Amino acid sequence: MVSYKHVVYWHDTEQVVPGDPLRGRVDCDVCIVGGGFTGLWAAYFLKEAEPALDIRIVEAKHSGYGASGRADGFVTPTVGKDIQALVDEFGLDRALDASRAVGRSILEIGRFTRRHRVDADYEANDYLMVATSPAQVKRLEHDRELAERMGAAQAEVLSQDATRELVGSPALLAGMRTGGALVNPFKLARGIARTVRDMGVTIHDDSPCLRVEPGIRPRVITTGGEVTADKVVLATNAHMDAFPPFRRKIAPIWTYAMISEPLTDGQLARVPWAGREGLVEAKSLLTCARLTRDNRVMFAGGPAPYYFGRDKRQRNMNRPEVYRKLYAEFLRFFPMWADVEFSYAYGGVADVVRDFAPHFGTLAGGSVLYGYGYCGNGIAATHTGGKVLRDLALGKDSDYSRLLFVDGEHRRPPRSFPPEPALYLGARAATRLMDWKDARS
Ligand SMILES: Cc1cc2nc3c(=O)[nH]c(=O)nc-3n(C[C@H](O)[C@H](O)[C@H](O)COP(=O)(O)OP(=O)(O)OC[C@H]3O[C@@H](n4cnc5c(N)ncnc54)[C@H](O)[C@@H]3O)c2cc1C
Repeated sequence: MVSYKHVVYWHDTEQVVPGDPLRGRVDCDVCIVGGGFTGLWAAYFLKEAEPALDIRIVEAKHSGYGASGRADGFVTPTVGKDIQALVDEFGLDRALDASRAVGRSILEIGRFTRRHRVDADYEANDYLMVATSPAQVKRLEHDRELAERMGAAQAEVLSQDATRELVGSPALLAGMRTGGALVNPFKLARGIARTVRDMGVTIHDDSPCLRVEPGIRPRVITTGGEVTADKVVLATNAHMDAFPPFRRKIAPIWTYAMISEPLTDGQLARVPWAGREGLVEAKSLLTCARLTRDNRVMFAGGPAPYYFGRDKRQRNMNRPEVYRKLYAEFLRFFPMWADVEFSYAYGGVADVVRDFAPHFGTLAGGSVLYGYGYCGNGIAATHTGGKVLRDLALGKDSDYSRLLFVDGEHRRPPRSFPPEPALYLGARAATRLMDWKDARS
């Protein structure tokens, strides 16, 4: 299995022709910093609402380079860490509003791909939360009760046999089907970028923003130029710490994935998986598995390390100890695939906040907006977030601007994480605790 390269598999599925970097001084209505899903959806919904707006995106590398283009591709209604954390923090009604909005986003992303002919391998397969221990079965039961209280009448915990009929893994003791889809996240990001370009948005690739100078009309300074705009939207996810108000608001937590060679017909036949559902294990440091369009198996999740000093460097993709653990977990789920070769092993950074749910809001009297804090569950939530940012930018009071995500009257910005070395020690202790709890479950 050990012949992998540390390259994001999805990046090999579509070639990138980068846009021109920003040069010189320009003026526009809205300047978005960051070309991931948050920035791209914000541009899309703003342009749809107000076609005359002059919108520019400045992106450090190219659209989809960050978390968006390296996500595992599970489009789920999860908001932040998990639904229980959301209910605990915000109460049932507000959690319900947020999770319904994000649930709608799953369907709307599918509609977007069809309407704009974006070939993002969107498969509306649902996803299957599974249990591999009695304690996890209890957790599924608990999640089912919660789902029922939140109005999901069809929630049902499936027996061991019924679960293994869906996915033929001997590790599975129970499962629960939940609405969701799978995508190729990089193709989705590239597709949204093409669509917004066609709508008239300018995307400047290779244009890292060095700083934002606030003011009535804030200025975005990049390595090659500067943009003055009525509104600036900060959408840099795990890199929000580059901007002073957000310096200690997020902990960049790494998460990893392995992708195999395309499975042969013989290998595919060994594991019944006709519905191709995304599979997620019901535990804190979750592991998940899925098939890609060309029938590779992805196995992802597991250890979620934080590296000292907020280390987000790409060299952290080379972590053999992480892949050893992930591969051992893969064999626990799929011992019949011991001959499967893994050719990609890579990781990316998720933006964890202390209250485990995304934050959107405004600064500097409304001229600077932000959206971040998805805690590793952002494919659908960024789509909802794009509408939140649209309404905040246009000053519209709406169902979206009133969601629990928005900092203001009903919600405070997240508490700051402590400086180093306390952050490093705290993050390690938290991961160990989750690991210990998962091992006992
Ligand atoms: C490995 C991994 C797996 C994941 N799997 C899933 C999943 O299966 N399902 C799910 O729902 N969520 C998943 N997530 C989370 C999800 O990918 C993110 O929540 C979501 O993509 C966040 O989008 P974003 O636009 O806010 O951030 P990003 O996609 O990170 O976009 C931020 C962009 O800003 C750019 N940037 C950074 N600094 C600057 C700067 N100074 N100037 C200009 N540009 C800058 C970056 O290059 C990047 O393109 C996963 C995350 C990771 C890391």
